[in-house]
Parts: sequence; structure tokens; C-alpha cells
Amino acid sequence: MSGSQRVTLKPGDTIGILGGGQLGRMLALAAARLGLKCQVFSPDPDSPAFDVVQNATCAEYADVEALELFAADVDVITYEFENVPAATAMVLAARRPVLPSHRILETVQDRLIEKDFVTDLGIGTAAYADVRSVQTLREAVKIIGLPAVIKTRRFGYDGKGQAIIREGDDLDQVWDDLGTKAAILEAFVPFEREISVIAARGADGSVESFDVTENEHRDHILKYSRVPAAIPDTLAAQARTMAETIATALDYVGVLAVEMFVVPGPNGPTLLVNEIAPRVHNSGHWTLDGASISQFEQHIRAVAGWPLGKPVRHSAVTMTNLIGDDILDYERWLTVPGATVHLYGKGAPRPGRKMGHVTEVHVTETKGRD
Ligand code: AMP
Repeated sequence: MSGSQRVTLKPGDTIGILGGGQLGRMLALAAARLGLKCQVFSPDPDSPAFDVVQNATCAEYADVEALELFAADVDVITYEFENVPAATAMVLAARRPVLPSHRILETVQDRLIEKDFVTDLGIGTAAYADVRSVQTLREAVKIIGLPAVIKTRRFGYDGKGQAIIREGDDLDQVWDDLGTKAAILEAFVPFEREISVIAARGADGSVESFDVTENEHRDHILKYSRVPAAIPDTLAAQARTMAETIATALDYVGVLAVEMFVVPGPNGPTLLVNEIAPRVHNSGHWTLDGASISQFEQHIRAVAGWPLGKPVRHSAVTMTNLIGDDILDYERWLTVPGATVHLYGKGAPRPGRKMGHVTEVHVTETKGRD
């Protein structure tokens, strides 16, 4: 099978997953429920996803021989993190279909290209400027104003590779601390809340999105997701349309997350897109227990070439991440009414390490008719 052919898997076929973290683990569990097998590729021998699959490849992403053997063992390949090295994706895509297409990574791995792409779709983002030196940073500050946020173009996550610049800050120092030659400066957005949309696009071009989720971060790491988001219905509909437009414009196959800011304004709140994650996303974990089909199953269906589900949310949900030592509280969580505990099987808790999550469903009872 060449890399470009359309795939339709049969039960019993194998999906290759690049990356062995909790997202890979939950993808593999969802695949198993549909009678599909997964083989996980990860350089880390302690990968949580290895625990739930029969076949695993523990090798570096640059190990071409291991990649070739992996590709030979699977029917289609997907990934659970966006920083898949371009060379890895090329080797695999020449041998098996890679979904979502590895070409998407060029857009979403680079904040400048991503922002240009979103802007070209007529979708709003924070004002931004390309920054390549301390001189261009000074010029950008004049145009964008302060406060502003400087971000490395590549490899930033959970607040890493970014800093807020305030009036009076030493720009030479800011630039040295960032330690890159490729950054963007963004206007600081005085947002009222942060939301995200988890959308799926099937191989046939059909699109489905989940209800909008509201997200609360602590120390730049997602702590709580709540659904439904406390925003007007019209704004929620707009957010979903934006995410679906982005998925279609990328010719995407699989699940993606679009993070947005809700910004107050004289004519009511408006939306700005912050970031696209080309994968299942932490803010979609509530779907495991709060909807008829989870984000993980939706992604597996898409890459298998199967019809997407039409997910029905059956309750209001709060998702709480268990970060670092939060996991020590798992026994208490097990006794909370309406709570479902998900532990990722990782080793020692470290500050900032995502160890598990809890979903709490808050069902409003609807009485049956007499
Ligand atoms: P990011 O890595 O772009 O997802 O940013 C991480 C977090 O930093 C976001 O979830 C926001 O809370 C905050 N943030 C990022 N960009 C901005 C911005 N332009 N204005 C205000 N807050 C921001």
C-alpha cells in the first residue's frame, strides 16, 4: 500500500501510533473497543501507551530501520503529538498512509505559518508580528504595543518558549532569554475566558464537532475543562464553525483541537483563535464519560476510514487534570459521586506531569412522559 491511497480498515487491522503518552494510550483503548489493534512507536521504554497494546516499537524517531519495520506491521499511521520530526513523517508516508497528512505539520508546527493560515481564512487572531532579532523585536513592539507575548515559532507547549513583555522590560534580556532566532510577538489578549473546540473530519470530508469546552489553566497547564462553556449559543456556534472551517481548509482527516480566546467587546464577546493542535486534546477528555462517542473513538474512526460518529453529550461535565502530586488523592476521587477516574500508569509524579484526570458528570434528570 502506498502512502497516498485511501484507507478503509477492517476489524482486526492495525493502526500505528507515533508517540506513547496518555493520548496514545487512550487512542489505543478506543481502538480496542472497535476491534482494531494498535502498535505504538515511542523512544521511551516507560511509555504509558505500551501497557495497553500487544505490539510496541521502542526506538528513536530518527531510526529509519525501525520506522520501516513499524510501517510494514501496520495498515495506517497516526500520531499523538504535533512535533513529529519532518524526516520521520517522510519515511513513514512513503510506505503507509499517514493521517492526518504529514503536510499539515508544516502549518501547525510553526506559530507564524499557523497564524498566517488562520488569518487567510478570515478568522481572527491576536495581532502578531514576525520576530527574528532584537531589532525586529523593537519594531514589533512599536506596532503591536505592550503588554505583549513573545513566543518561539516552534516547539512551545504548556507555556514553555513564551514570555509576557511589559512596559519597562529590557528587550535585549527578553530576546536572550528566549534563546531562538525565530519568534512571533502577539498582542496580549485581555480575554474573558478560554475555550476550545474538538472537531473531527472524516476521509469523506464530513465534519463533526463536540460542544464547546471552557478551559482554566494553572501555571500554563490545563487544570479544568467545563462543558458546556458559559458563552452565548451564537458564539458557541461560531466557534464550532471556525474549527470545522479550519479542518476542511487543512484537508484534515482525524481529530483536531482549536483553542480560542473569548474577548469582551461593546457589541458582545468575540472570538480569536490562539492555537491549533493536530491531535486529540486534553480539553476533550470529558468526551470519554460525557458523550456517546469520545474524541479518541472519533479519531480512530476517521483514520480507519470509517463513518464519524454523531456524538451526543449527555450531561454537563467537569474534567480535572491530576497534575504531579494531585494523583496522591486518587482514592478520594474514586468515592466522589458522578466521578470517573482515569490514571495513566506513569511512574513517579513530578511537578507539572499529567498523571491522570477525573471526569465528573452532572446529569440533569429529564422525566419520561406518562
Ligand atoms: P499557547 O502556548 O499559545 O497555547 O499559550 C498558553 C497560554 O498562555 C494560553 O492558554 C493563554 O492562557 C496564555 N496566552 C497565550 N497567548 C496569549 C495572548 N496573546 N494573550 C494573552 N494570553 C495568552
